[in-house]
Amino acid sequence: MKPCLKYGLVPALAAASLTAGALAAPAHAAPPALTAAPGAAVQDGARLHTNAELARALRTIEKASNGRVQVRSVGESNEGRPLWLATLGTGPKRVMYVTQQHGDEPLGTESAIHTLRTLGLGGGKDVRELRKKITLAVLVRANPDGHERQWRYNYAPDAKPEYGEPGKGYDINRYHNPDMKPEDNPATEAGVIQRAYAAFRPSIMVDYHMQGRYAFPPPDGREITTSIMWPTNAKVPAAALRSSKQVAVRVNEAFTKAGAVVSQYPGGEYEGIARNAYGIRGSASLLVELSALPPERERFQIRTAHKSMVDLALAAGQGKLDGIDPAAADRIPPRGPALPSGERHDHAD
Ligand SMILES: [Zn+2]
Repeated sequence: MKPCLKYGLVPALAAASLTAGALAAPAHAAPPALTAAPGAAVQDGARLHTNAELARALRTIEKASNGRVQVRSVGESNEGRPLWLATLGTGPKRVMYVTQQHGDEPLGTESAIHTLRTLGLGGGKDVRELRKKITLAVLVRANPDGHERQWRYNYAPDAKPEYGEPGKGYDINRYHNPDMKPEDNPATEAGVIQRAYAAFRPSIMVDYHMQGRYAFPPPDGREITTSIMWPTNAKVPAAALRSSKQVAVRVNEAFTKAGAVVSQYPGGEYEGIARNAYGIRGSASLLVELSALPPERERFQIRTAHKSMVDLALAAGQGKLDGIDPAAADRIPPRGPALPSGERHDHAD
């Protein structure tokens, strides 16, 4: 894994990797592992990896794995930051996770790091067996430039994006159209994901995002911690829709067992959204949205998503998805109204 030499040209924002409410800490002083913000009133707010710390954490995992985890850059962001793809396992079932296409939706990346440790470094029988049954690829933090700025878009300030924001950049998750060639893709990082997908050919593709805060309507009233959705574009082949819903049912169960409160996500049909695009291309495709809960619940959010990643890999490896009734996905309840305390400039997917 080679470090990105252009990285140093971009001024680091000291607080860029921290969620609102967490205390800033000097980037160079932070260990790659999660630690609570030191001395903070918010004891359990997750300390997120900066881009440099993410690179170090992945390198550490790779080294500790004795060759079981490979980490390489599969492309660069507009500002030259590497997009890391970590792979493990030698099995025929191919599973791919993508995190943080939207730069200000960071928690899935933290879950992915834990997942690579669990499945790449674990020596238990289950995990050893699993590595013979599946090959897992994780594209960790697809939008490092957006992460650096704590915004949704990539960094393309001179662009006039059809989807995105002038002066900022493209919304990467609108540029996965199956008909668009990676070399013609104006959203650089989406093109990198398209290439990685085409090279890896996953049968399961899960895309981790974050949403605002929502609750089920009364009398239930519980806050929703996680929303999920399968592809909803009409061009998705029936077999891919079926397998996507089977994945949704399993992921719903994994989150729920971990204590999450799960709803469907009211996502759109546009084919440039990864959830739809990779379904159209034939994969079982799923969107996961972790709610932006207060800092003291970020570790919970990271943990539940980590469990969902590990569980889906195990279920895929053990052939437990095929027997699931896809219609059970339709019985996952719809998302309720936004909470006033959770106001957030919220876009679809
Ligand atoms: Zn998102």
